[in-house]
Amino acid sequence: MNRIGKAYETKFRTVLGQLRARKMDQGVNWLMTRARYLSQREGITPAHALAEVHGRLLETKRSFLRDHPRENGDNATHGSVTKAFLCDAGLGGLARWLRASGYEAIWIPDIDDDDLLREGVRLDAIILTTDSMLMERRVLRDGIIPAVWVPPTLTMLEQLALIFQELDLEMRDSRCMSCGGEMIEIDKEAVRDRIPPRTLKWLNEFFECRQCGKLFWHGTHWQRITSRLKAV
Ligand SMILES: [Zn+2]
Repeated sequence: MNRIGKAYETKFRTVLGQLRARKMDQGVNWLMTRARYLSQREGITPAHALAEVHGRLLETKRSFLRDHPRENGDNATHGSVTKAFLCDAGLGGLARWLRASGYEAIWIPDIDDDDLLREGVRLDAIILTTDSMLMERRVLRDGIIPAVWVPPTLTMLEQLALIFQELDLEMRDSRCMSCGGEMIEIDKEAVRDRIPPRTLKWLNEFFECRQCGKLFWHGTHWQRITSRLKAV
């Protein structure tokens, strides 16, 4: 089987575990077969079909968790991610939007695999990677270092939605997209000369990063992203 297929197999296994499925191997095989069938029937790529099947599985998980709210406490993950995310070299855009969603996200350009794993341990972070080969390393596959594989075929927004679904995240107060610093609301008049006139006309809420001093506002791009996220 190819690497993308293998990476999805791992994902399926994780979700089935959260659903407390008894016949794990059979379940995984069934999902893989379903994806193959879907790919043939719909004429979509195998990767796309696997993403579809995975998306539906996550929906199942969500309704399962809703109907069985934290009986054993072992799946009580909703909104409780407190660790930082460590994004691999290809996921700079995702890191920015995770910060905008209120999560701590570290992105180190050009970091190699071994350093990424080392940093993950040092920072006690959740590794996000598009590298399915990396996911085959024992420390990630066995969950010794928490990691989520992000299919490289997804758009940034789809990646973000996937992370939200897989880890049951919810939107928090935005952090600075550049440095992850805390934001404070700032008086419009005080920063009037730093805002484009057109933005000044239709927005009243402005935020400044305590750490790097950058100015942010919830413009059209931000509103588009958050409304798509809410839809997910
Ligand atoms: Zn900042």
